[in-house]
Amino acid sequence: MSVISPARNTSTINYHHLPAPQQNLFDQLMAQADNTASAAEYEALMAALIAITGITGVRYNEILKCACPCDCGCIFDADAPGLRTVEEPQGYNLGRLQCPTCTDEHPTPDAD
Ligand SMILES: [Zn+2]
Ligand SMILES: [Zn+2]
Repeated sequence: MSVISPARNTSTINYHHLPAPQQNLFDQLMAQADNTASAAEYEALMAALIAITGITGVRYNEILKCACPCDCGCIFDADAPGLRTVEEPQGYNLGRLQCPTCTDEHPTPDAD
């Protein structure tokens, strides 16, 4: 008997709730996805990342970890509506976006 209720629609998960080996793997694959010059490799890495996290309903095979300074650890669909960019990615593949919760609850971390 499991005390964990079955995951149905898991559109976000929390990085901090993943076991350490999965966190390490997630970090490695994310770093590779961020830096690869190959679209095919990027897609394969993203597919692996989605499999690791168990997120469902991803629109375009792309997930991100929240880039908010609060370090909430939220991992979410990169193409969910209404997300806010924290900073423009410079020379990287991945956007730097806030998760849906941070977009709602945390002021844009604008400098100045
Ligand atoms: Zn967040
Ligand atoms: Zn936040």
